[in-house]
Amino acid sequence: MNRQLLRGSSCAGAAILVAVATANQANSAVLFNFDYSQNANGVGFLDPLLGTERQNALQDAADAWGTQFDHNATITLSVTSSSNPQSNTLASAGSQIIGFSNNTFAGFGSGDVIRRKVLSDGNEDLNGSSNDGILNFNWGQNWDLSSNPNDVNSSEFDFYSVVFHELNHALGFSSFIAEDGTDPFDNPNIANVWSKFDQFIVDINGNPVIDPNTGLLNQAIWDAGSTGGASPGAGLFFNGPNALAANSGSSVGMGLGLYTPTTFNEGSSVGHLDDENPLYEDLLMSALVGTGASARALSPIEKGIFQDLGYRFVSDSTNNPTSVPTPSLLGGLIAFGLKLSRKRIKQAGG
Ligand SMILES: [Zn+2]
Repeated sequence: MNRQLLRGSSCAGAAILVAVATANQANSAVLFNFDYSQNANGVGFLDPLLGTERQNALQDAADAWGTQFDHNATITLSVTSSSNPQSNTLASAGSQIIGFSNNTFAGFGSGDVIRRKVLSDGNEDLNGSSNDGILNFNWGQNWDLSSNPNDVNSSEFDFYSVVFHELNHALGFSSFIAEDGTDPFDNPNIANVWSKFDQFIVDINGNPVIDPNTGLLNQAIWDAGSTGGASPGAGLFFNGPNALAANSGSSVGMGLGLYTPTTFNEGSSVGHLDDENPLYEDLLMSALVGTGASARALSPIEKGIFQDLGYRFVSDSTNNPTSVPTPSLLGGLIAFGLKLSRKRIKQAGG
């Protein structure tokens, strides 16, 4: 399996804008712009016959998804297409990631470009005018583009569901931990860069995978948990307080089971809910999806995860958002990175 981790050139001189977040406006939403300039000519979203319909469906789905968030920001994603019927990857997406030259751990989520842009209502843009993240779709599969889930038949993949899933990765539902336990930069001159999501990953005994003070990964806990197998008996768990509160009705005490198959799958393992646990396998943020109409909304526990990441929802008129302090920007920018999380195809009978 290829490591779909792209490292950009270093950039020490980019300006960092930090401003006080403005008050929420009446019609909050996250808006998504899509840049197709990196998409191969004639393929997928730029197919001469079907491209416009595909772009329109993507924009319509993204517009709908963004309205549930009580934040005001515009996110630009660089969109590409592949066309590979043999691949078991349907789509992938991720936020740009910033690494810092200072060797002091800057805190979980300090390099999350999109999450920080949204939570600051657009005031923090860590990578300036560059696109904020990336999105890829594999058009070698049989998609149904309808906004109506009743139109998705049993041999088709639900495009809207997968768009929602991938946008969630870009917004921060993503682990930055590679199979070997390294961070996206794996560079001794850059302090470890972990996502906000990574802050809440624990083993079955509640031990954090990453030390919250030093940012150092506990290799033994990671190695045992990341390929531990099915929850609730093994593997790794998400223990954010909002997610746990939403999960209280289930029998799972430690936290939400994360996808930790015994063979590590880069881009899928750990950064999804556990497909191997019947409680989670059909939820939007599980790693695998089958054909037919699929989840098109956040379950309460997935909503709890987003609240743990700092997000507010417009439906929560009395919400009590987790305080999201702005991490101090130690040192200068040194590198851009990107880590993609994927939605894979559910195998027949699996
Ligand atoms: Zn995914």
